[in-house]
Amino acid sequence: MLDEIFKKIQASQTTQPTQTKSKNENILQLEPGNTYIVRLVPFIKKPESTFVSFHNHGWESKKNGRYISIPCLKTWGRGEKCPTCEIRFAELKIGSDAAKAKARLLRQKTTNYVNLYMIDTPNTDDKGKVKILRYGAELDKIIKAAVTGEDADEFGMRVFDLSPDGVDFRIKVDTKGQGREAMPTYAMSKFVSKKHDLGLSQAEIQAIYDSAHDLTALVPERKSDAEIEKVLNEHYFTNQDRPVAVTEYVSDEEENDIRGSYNPSPAYHAEEERETKSITTSTSNVDDTVSDLLKEFSLPED
Ligand SMILES: [Zn+2]
Repeated sequence: MLDEIFKKIQASQTTQPTQTKSKNENILQLEPGNTYIVRLVPFIKKPESTFVSFHNHGWESKKNGRYISIPCLKTWGRGEKCPTCEIRFAELKIGSDAAKAKARLLRQKTTNYVNLYMIDTPNTDDKGKVKILRYGAELDKIIKAAVTGEDADEFGMRVFDLSPDGVDFRIKVDTKGQGREAMPTYAMSKFVSKKHDLGLSQAEIQAIYDSAHDLTALVPERKSDAEIEKVLNEHYFTNQDRPVAVTEYVSDEEENDIRGSYNPSPAYHAEEERETKSITTSTSNVDDTVSDLLKEFSLPED
């Protein structure tokens, strides 16, 4: 028995230094023009962490043009105060036209993760493996509709079922827009109710469930208010254009109103916070939250 335990200890020691890297390699790279047939995999060790999401703010630095990304503190609860959100809301509400235009750059983006069992994929190496899907608003809408929303009667629990009762998720990656404006779109993806027997035994299904990745490890480290302020002062505000005491312009109630149209964040709790430096923002499928916000503010769209 100790033999087995020692093997696991040895393996954990040899794989540790590359852990972060290997996690990234587990994230599925979706290519436009491709279709992926998969099933969602629950995280049975902690089912409430089957879906994990976080918010961040990203913009191009006023100082050096580099892409800056900082966690939005709303990741750790909607009641949390996020210095970046506060500046953004205040400037969109009472700022000059220039300040409003600039505040739009501080958009909040949501990144979601779920484990996938790869059934059919253009990359044959991935077939039969458990990969991580990183996704934005388009796929989130389709998945939420199937799991808890209007399609839950038809799909519901079956989206996680690897037996012949389960339903495949067909991720279709198309391109919308032309040239530099071209962006991937996932809007044609769907759950497919057509019966599909994957031919897996109970033991194989269990092994697949057991190999699901702990997605909470992909949530970036929380930053303190002071750290965030430092980044904003260095890379967002320039030439002393920072408004004085910006937070007093937005009350909590107003902020909650403004945020009323946001989807609640799926299960993620501060105690699951793990350090990882490897998160980069997805440049595709970002949230439509900015346009929602602008509607709230009755401002013209870009
Ligand atoms: Zn924020």
